[in-house]
Amino acid sequence: MMNVPELFGSDVFNEAVMKERLPKQTYKALKKTINDGTPLGLDVANVVANAMKDWACEKGCTHYTHWFQPMTGLTAEKLDSFISPTEEGHVIMEFSGKELIKGEPDASSFPSGGLRATFEARGYTAWDPTSFAFIKENTLCIPTAFCSYNGEALDKKTPLLRSMEAINKSALRVLKLFGSDATRVISNVGPEQEYFLIDREMYSHRKDLIYTGRSLYGAPAPKGQELEDHYFGTIKTRVAAYMKDLDEQLWKLGVYAKTKHNEVAPAQHELAPIFGTTNIATDHNQLTMEIMKRTARKHGFKCLLHEKPFAGINGSGKHNNWSISTNTGVNLLDPGKTPAENAQFLLFLTAVIKAVYKHQDVLRASVASAGNDHRLGANEAPPAIISIFLGDELTAILDAIVNGKKYEGEHVDMEIGVDVLPNFPKDTTDRNRTSPFAFTGNKFEFRMPGSRLSCAGPNTVINTIIAETLDDFSEKLESASDFKAALNELIRTTIKECEPIIFNGNGYSDEWPVEAEKRGLLNLKSTPEAVPTFATPENIALFEKYGVYTATELHSRVEILLDEYVKTLNIEALTMVDMAKKDILPAAASYVKDLAETANLSKNIGAPAEFETELVKKLSVLMADMYKKLGALEDAIVKAHDITDVAQAANYYHDVVFAAMGELRATADEIEVSVGEKYWPYPTYGQLLFYVK
Ligand code: ADP
Ligand code: MG
Repeated sequence: MMNVPELFGSDVFNEAVMKERLPKQTYKALKKTINDGTPLGLDVANVVANAMKDWACEKGCTHYTHWFQPMTGLTAEKLDSFISPTEEGHVIMEFSGKELIKGEPDASSFPSGGLRATFEARGYTAWDPTSFAFIKENTLCIPTAFCSYNGEALDKKTPLLRSMEAINKSALRVLKLFGSDATRVISNVGPEQEYFLIDREMYSHRKDLIYTGRSLYGAPAPKGQELEDHYFGTIKTRVAAYMKDLDEQLWKLGVYAKTKHNEVAPAQHELAPIFGTTNIATDHNQLTMEIMKRTARKHGFKCLLHEKPFAGINGSGKHNNWSISTNTGVNLLDPGKTPAENAQFLLFLTAVIKAVYKHQDVLRASVASAGNDHRLGANEAPPAIISIFLGDELTAILDAIVNGKKYEGEHVDMEIGVDVLPNFPKDTTDRNRTSPFAFTGNKFEFRMPGSRLSCAGPNTVINTIIAETLDDFSEKLESASDFKAALNELIRTTIKECEPIIFNGNGYSDEWPVEAEKRGLLNLKSTPEAVPTFATPENIALFEKYGVYTATELHSRVEILLDEYVKTLNIEALTMVDMAKKDILPAAASYVKDLAETANLSKNIGAPAEFETELVKKLSVLMADMYKKLGALEDAIVKAHDITDVAQAANYYHDVVFAAMGELRATADEIEVSVGEKYWPYPTYGQLLFYVK
């Protein structure tokens, strides 16, 4: 039997290991750095580094790496061994404080959006001591932030850490007004990770999955997800073995892997950890994705993290459960039981509502990618319109507050700070899966992020926009002579002002986009529309005010994201062309040839050959049509390559290239349905999704 408590965190240089291996003074100094963010002295770092090295070497490590999260959204590492030569021609294992604190990888090949001219290609990585070092593949991994020499962020972690500082400060300012003794406010995240598992052998025959992570062709299988028999269904033996192995590896790395189950689509699954501090949860989610993929290989699977690997069935998201709490253990989004707790809760709730209403654009932009465009608005994930779900009960309470009316539930009218909130059900029955931003009892669930996205981007935005609203509230309340009256008034007027963003109805309905437009809500449907909003003057002012992104960093991010969009679509388009020319048309042609030969032979002996003749005609027409559409796509690609401005190119890829891809696919899928299975060059949707034992 596996001893989980013993296994858990066994590959992590965590508090327990620190306590055991560090001199008391060093441990204290490091703890102070972790808790209060005080800089770590080199003398302390030297002792920590040496202890880390000894621990890692005992566990079989030979190398260390600064593990960081460049703008690719993946993680990066450059391995250095611990060896250091001695005069006698031997080596000893060494690791200094300097090496622990700072690294200098060559940054020139990471996307920087013009931030870093190649002549000054050096960037540096700096240890984030709040995230524990860990061992992966015989390497000691040090979680780090990645910056240019001018201090500009070249990664996803740095802005996230800055945003956590921003919300800490702003929330503490508000809490002071309530007489709280908290000294730190932490934002938390529990990301639910969805993924697909398919057979690796079948995967290896699909160029589209190999090059782009999603299927670019594929007629629907006779069965999809309509029977709803996969969601929470019994887990297949081979998949269960994979999940067990995955859990064990994640536990060793100190990841609180908690829940696993089959998801809605065939071959789709989910893993959810217990929530934690945002930057650590982000690191852990990056690790989880990496280990998911690696473990899949071991079990003969391919793990697809693409947001929409298969048309016609659900794609994969990463539901971002977010809350803020104090170092005194109070969840600020938990209503609590006393009037004072309720008042504080209502203020934080109102702050979230206002922030989301005011900043729909950046929130939407924070989840934009070519892959996620397939999900948002596709009747499986939330639409591209941002709205907030509060549930009927809480909405009714807020209504009563706004209108000064009696709340019709179990309680009389509500005076904030005096009365206790009536009980409202904690998200059990009236769960609304169509809402992008749903209050679920004591946290908000942001459902727009795609499965592959790093948690860093959306949480950087969430933390910053709420920090701004909290500051705005503090300003108003600090100057008030009657705090309670001012608080009542502030909550009342803010909720009233923000009413359009609250929507408890069906986000998939055809009426919603129409209604949303009437309410003046944004509907940024695609990445080229959404991403540029990062760099509007208002948003630059916002992020600069909180020191989260500089204007230069924002412009560079817009460029990186659009460039990534263009490149992704370009690879997809080229892959489609390749598959059409080299595989699909030849396969169809060879089927047609056999049919035609059979027809001739049949006719020679006087048999009717109706089926063969008809099918030859039908397929010939479809193939001619496909050939034409292939030409149109090729033309579009050529034209796209002439566009030098990245924003223009992104729009062109969206409007023209993507449309041409859709046309070509439609015909190819029609051909697939009529071509004999043994002629078809790829495993079909049915095989990919249902044939795993
Ligand atoms: P669902 O029913 O929405 O699929 P899951 O159990 O799969 O729920 O995931 C819920 C996620 O929310 C978990 O990662 C859980 O740890 C996280 N969570 C719970 N409470 C909080 C909180 N206060 N703040 C942030 N995340 C939370
Ligand atoms: Mg879940």
